[in-house]
Amino acid sequence: MTIKVKCPQCGKETEYSEKNPWRPFCCERCKIIDLGAWANGDYVIAGKPIEGDDDLDISSESLAKGKLHSKEKISR
Ligand SMILES: [Zn+2]
Repeated sequence: MTIKVKCPQCGKETEYSEKNPWRPFCCERCKIIDLGAWANGDYVIAGKPIEGDDDLDISSESLAKGKLHSKEKISR
């Protein structure tokens, strides 16, 4: 009996067994893409619910501060 799972990256059905070293992904490429997305913080932004204007103001303010900070770093 083989357990099949859907690859979290591309949605392709893949075998969840010792034969598949990239499980639950279908291949090495999908695993690397997914790990890269985590490293870039895509999942953090995607998983963060934006509700209410107050939250939006805080996040945009902190974003602007972060941009200014990175600009300072570059100019120095
Ligand atoms: Zn895949």
